[in-house]
Amino acid sequence: MNDRVAVIGAGYAGLAAAVELAAAGHRVDVFEASRTLGGRARAARIEGFEVDNGQHILIGAYTETLRLMRAVGANPDVLLKRTPLRFEFPGEFLMHAPRLPAPLHTAFALLLAHGLDWSEKWAAIRLMRGLQAGRFRIEPDTTVTKWLDAKQTPSRQRRLLWEPLCIAALNTPAECASAQVLANVLRDSLGGAREASDLLLPQVNLSALFPDPAAKFVAEHGGTVRPGHRVASLHRETDGWHIDETGPYTHVVLAVAPYHLAALVPELASRVGHFDWEPIVTSYVRYPDTVRLPQPMLGVDAGLAQWLFDRGALCGQHGLIAAVISARGRHLDLPTAELEQRIHGEIARIVPGLPQPLAVQTITEKRATFACVPDLERPPTRTELPGLWLAGDYVASDYPATLEAAVRSGVAAARGILQKS
Ligand SMILES: Cc1cc2nc3c(=O)[nH]c(=O)nc-3n(C[C@H](O)[C@H](O)[C@H](O)COP(=O)(O)OP(=O)(O)OC[C@H]3O[C@@H](n4cnc5c(N)ncnc54)[C@H](O)[C@@H]3O)c2cc1C
Repeated sequence: MNDRVAVIGAGYAGLAAAVELAAAGHRVDVFEASRTLGGRARAARIEGFEVDNGQHILIGAYTETLRLMRAVGANPDVLLKRTPLRFEFPGEFLMHAPRLPAPLHTAFALLLAHGLDWSEKWAAIRLMRGLQAGRFRIEPDTTVTKWLDAKQTPSRQRRLLWEPLCIAALNTPAECASAQVLANVLRDSLGGAREASDLLLPQVNLSALFPDPAAKFVAEHGGTVRPGHRVASLHRETDGWHIDETGPYTHVVLAVAPYHLAALVPELASRVGHFDWEPIVTSYVRYPDTVRLPQPMLGVDAGLAQWLFDRGALCGQHGLIAAVISARGRHLDLPTAELEQRIHGEIARIVPGLPQPLAVQTITEKRATFACVPDLERPPTRTELPGLWLAGDYVASDYPATLEAAVRSGVAAARGILQKS
């Protein structure tokens, strides 16, 4: 166990790798450019409120994220609000999973859904059963739209169920998104155990959810975490890897986003050059404390905003509503003030008598996730450079760019190193 290991990047992927390695007795040094840990899933401060760089949701199928949270003493039962799957567009559509054992929870969720007629409900059940019978394999991979066309899916069901699910899970519009990756997500959520489809809504900021406790865990196990250290140089010498003035390291986990990879290791640029990006916009709209949504999370039908979150119900930030717009779309062409005014109008459709906002702040992540298109080639964890491993939500995996994909990639990199040690 004399190997020294470095992790570059303290997002969920890098910290997952660091925790696994530290737990196995390795001394790990983590380098992070930002002063705040968590990468794209990190805390941000607006208007005196601690919020996130973008509102996130987790689901019960995020087994590795939940396992590692427990390992570092971040109790998911306390930090996440767990509710059975509830998909609601007020006045249009409501589907919620009853507390029944799998697969009845899914069948009954679809059968009892409000807003679909019987033929649409049976069509949705047939689609899920067809996926199950085919072991959730879609060969050859195609776009979600073409797959739904081939299954003759009714248009209302697409609009209210599959397309919002696709955008929420893959952050890619159905006409470009991989049907296979959507099927993977359906397999592990609606097609899995009942708890797997539960929604887990953070009740603390995303840095406090895992990254900060993970950093503490690494430090308690003899490692270091260095926020505010942007690595400028990574090179290999005969005695191992050197990071700026530090080293040598036997192994390095490179846990930066693909667009930061090439600057550190130009040899790997071709592995990620073909990735395209999808944005996510989060507007935090502050109203008087008494304003609340009918549910902690609601969909917006035919709006610019897709999902609304009541941060009062989630984390005691009363009057604060987060509106999320995933993937590219016409909203990106609007001036911010107009976008925010339209979002306010959409919240007003759901909350009668809504007063004007006291303040609004919008965070646009232009490269929130990679575009999850069919047959996307994603690089493996292990590189051809000895001792250099990749971790991140873009690394080869069944999953789209999510916290769970990031965490699993970090765990895979750590396990690769542990096997070599
Ligand atoms: C607005 C938004 C909403 C999202 N919503 C959801 C959601 O609801 N559910 C979900 O599961 N996922 C969601 N995601 C996706 C999720 O946040 C990402 O998949 C995940 O955070 C990626 O983690 P990562 O560790 O792979 O990469 P990153 O989080 O990008 O971490 C990379 C880290 O490397 C650091 N770094 C880069 N270069 C250097 C350098 N030279 N030296 C040192 N450090 C460096 C960066 O500062 C960063 O901290 C969302 C993403 C965004 C942006």
